Amino acid sequence: MKLLSHAINLIFPAACTNCDRTVSTDADTSYFCKYCWQGIEWFNCPCCPRCGLPYLSPYTDIGNNSGSGQPADGHLCGNCIERPPSFDAAVSAGRYAGALAKAIKLFKYKKKVYLGKRLTELALQSSLIERTLQNAHNPAAADTVWGCPAHRADTAVSAQTVIIPVPLHVKRLRKREFNQSAIISSVIGKKYGIPVAANTLMRHRHTKPQVELDGRDRKENVAGAFSVDNQKLIEGKEIILIDDVYTSGSTINECSKVLKKNGAVKVYVITIARMVD
Ligand SMILES: [Zn+2]
Ligand SMILES: [Zn+2]
Repeated sequence: MKLLSHAINLIFPAACTNCDRTVSTDADTSYFCKYCWQGIEWFNCPCCPRCGLPYLSPYTDIGNNSGSGQPADGHLCGNCIERPPSFDAAVSAGRYAGALAKAIKLFKYKKKVYLGKRLTELALQSSLIERTLQNAHNPAAADTVWGCPAHRADTAVSAQTVIIPVPLHVKRLRKREFNQSAIISSVIGKKYGIPVAANTLMRHRHTKPQVELDGRDRKENVAGAFSVDNQKLIEGKEIILIDDVYTSGSTINECSKVLKKNGAVKVYVITIARMVD
């Protein structure tokens, strides 16, 4: 079979979904050419310690006021200063653009679940997410748990840590047949030995996809859309909330609000990609 697919590939080479270059269908990441995979912008420091927004300049003295010219990524972004989010910290693996955006769309809308799992593995290798989760297992490295060294960490993964995927409304779940955030959650949970509590946070109101809306509409779209089904599973827990894309932060903010109202001690957020203007 492998020989056959190789021969087919020689006669009818596949095109990259992002740029039309020829790609090998043998590769396990065959939807995109190597240039497009390499072109994914995985985030690194410095970034906002609260929402994970990557900063444009690595050198800013706003954080330490020392005038040392050293990277200072401990300061909040403008948004987090003006409207502090309900979650304690969020990290995203990479920029929602190019091959990363197309791969997420293939995963969600074309049922390429395998690609979604592969994407999650790649995201876990990105420095921010990997550092976040690996250090979370090592309380001694608590100073660097959430992303960059300037992220103050007051948690480590413990028996009280639970992963919760951002839920889909049942109508959308039936149409799509799977919840992409639940699949991402299961890959992360398995790799780091953290239990996943699906069907605890529920979306009881059907909402429009956030990507189709802007600013204020996104906030109103998700307001009051979520509820907790079993409060006992949330009370006293440190939650790692998982979503595929951080759009404006409205969805994860609303989910975090509900989780905290139901007794969550902390809510941390991990997303595969983030939209950055
Ligand atoms: Zn390409
Ligand atoms: Zn921020």
